[in-house]
Amino acid sequence: MSTVYIALGSNLEPRRQYMQQAVLHMQQIGKVLNVAPLYESEPYGFTEQPRFLNSAVCLETDWQPLPLLNQLKQIETTVGRITRQRWGPREIDLDIIFYDDLVLQTEHLTIPHPDYRNRCFVLQPLADIAPEFIPPDATQSLQELARKCRKTNHLTRIQSNWVAA
Ligand code: ADP
Ligand code: MG
Repeated sequence: MSTVYIALGSNLEPRRQYMQQAVLHMQQIGKVLNVAPLYESEPYGFTEQPRFLNSAVCLETDWQPLPLLNQLKQIETTVGRITRQRWGPREIDLDIIFYDDLVLQTEHLTIPHPDYRNRCFVLQPLADIAPEFIPPDATQSLQELARKCRKTNHLTRIQSNWVAA
């Protein structure tokens, strides 16, 4: 059994519905132990696109990393993701941020996710559900990393309980 942290994002309507459906589907591939609050953030990278909803979940699962990524891609498709440009608008994005204390770098999968430290919209929801967790490639806890990134990035907390039990 592994403990995995997954970041969710959506910037095409109905955003909240895509996010909710993704969490419900994740219950089929493991046990969803925790769901972070819902946040809204300004687009990152390619900035001429709608604002994102972001959140994160903690999933306990038996799936190995690469098969898990494939399961998540399948959920993206089921929920309604259409292939478009990288960094561009998307119905739903599911990224593996941490997988236990694993450090992995392959062509199709990098864990921890390569850019999580620079993304407040990833760090803050993770810090809400795992404040004391020290990522395998860091020396500070998620709480400390999130506090630092909040100084430069704006993020709005929208709602705490957004997935029906
Ligand atoms: P984005 O980088 O904006 O999330 P995509 O969702 O289209 O873009 O993902 C592009 C590719 O990133 C995926 O097909 C996947 O193979 C790869 N990838 C590498 N590491 C990860 C990870 N930790 N989580 C999710 N996808 C990853
Ligand atoms: Mg992705």
